[in-house]
Amino acid sequence: MIVLIDNGHGIDTAGKRSPDGRFREYLWNRWIAADVCARLLADGIETRLLVPETNDIALSTRVRRANKVCTEAGAANVLLVSVHANAAGDGSRWMNAQGWSAYTSPGKTKADTAAECFYDAFERAFPDRKIRRDYSDGDRDWEANFTILKNTKCPAVLLENFFYDNREECSWLLSPYTQYRIVSAICDGVKRYAAL
Ligand SMILES: [Zn+2]
Repeated sequence: MIVLIDNGHGIDTAGKRSPDGRFREYLWNRWIAADVCARLLADGIETRLLVPETNDIALSTRVRRANKVCTEAGAANVLLVSVHANAAGDGSRWMNAQGWSAYTSPGKTKADTAAECFYDAFERAFPDRKIRRDYSDGDRDWEANFTILKNTKCPAVLLENFFYDNREECSWLLSPYTQYRIVSAICDGVKRYAAL
């Protein structure tokens, strides 16, 4: 299996920061993605960073990169995990929403199976935090027509790792120990999927 880790946005993406400016999503996503890659590689799982650049890379380019690997390795042997953090507002003020969620493209695919693995991992790792679930299609993940989910040939899951425009959750997300725990949970989810 080849795991592709995508880190959303870039240094040139407008907004995508907490009201106090301490949290910048492109940077946080890259910290998490780099650590996930390092940890999975250390465990012998072939893992590649889809966007090593600091600037934003167009979604069409991200999809093209992922589908090139799918063509080479076989789409069923590839898993794409897109790392994001969530915001309920536009970054101008603190909001109340909190919690973790995962998204897949609409319809039942192997991505839903993978998303269940991440829900298992995050529910286990964060029993003290809110886990956001959408049971409209019978499982826990949310459905969305995001380009990175819809146009990639492999199973693809987008993780919204808690809310950076919630004051409490933002401080919590900036803690290195929280970041370590989130990286651990993502790696756990990948391993659960790889073990199926
Ligand atoms: Zn994002």
